[in-house]
Amino acid sequence: MSDENKDARDEVVEAAATAVVIEAEAEGEAGDELKLNTSIQPNDIVFDCPHCGKSLAIDGDGAGMAITCPDCQNVIQVPYPDALAAETAADATQMQLLHEQISAAQNRVAELSAELNVASLKIEHLEKTQSDLKSHLEQMSTEWGVIQNALDRVMSLMQEIRLR
Ligand SMILES: [Zn+2]
Repeated sequence: MSDENKDARDEVVEAAATAVVIEAEAEGEAGDELKLNTSIQPNDIVFDCPHCGKSLAIDGDGAGMAITCPDCQNVIQVPYPDALAAETAADATQMQLLHEQISAAQNRVAELSAELNVASLKIEHLEKTQSDLKSHLEQMSTEWGVIQNALDRVMSLMQEIRLR
């Protein structure tokens, strides 16, 4: 046996010592298991044995370790406590991303709305300018008419003078 194998075996034995069954059976050895149940600590990893389905508890330091199930004696790997938390975190990240996308879309709508406001103000201004130019042109046209009339009168007066 190599040193590496020996180390692995030691690890199994060490971890197995702290794993406990927390799922009490209705009858039989229930008494012993209930006693073990009371030893669960806040940082213990609680998981089901993939072989016998028993709920097991092990100290948080046992995460990822190979242990022997105290009930069925199969070698099992202790899951990492944040495997479930990671899944929840992934969902939360997805939700956060959606919120950011919605927020970005809302900002874009606000931007477009502001641009539309500026554009309609420009149109309003252009329409007013056009209207101003039109009335200015009308005024010039009227003034030109007055000048034209005056010139006509001057012409006819000159003609009268010449005819005398
Ligand atoms: Zn088991």
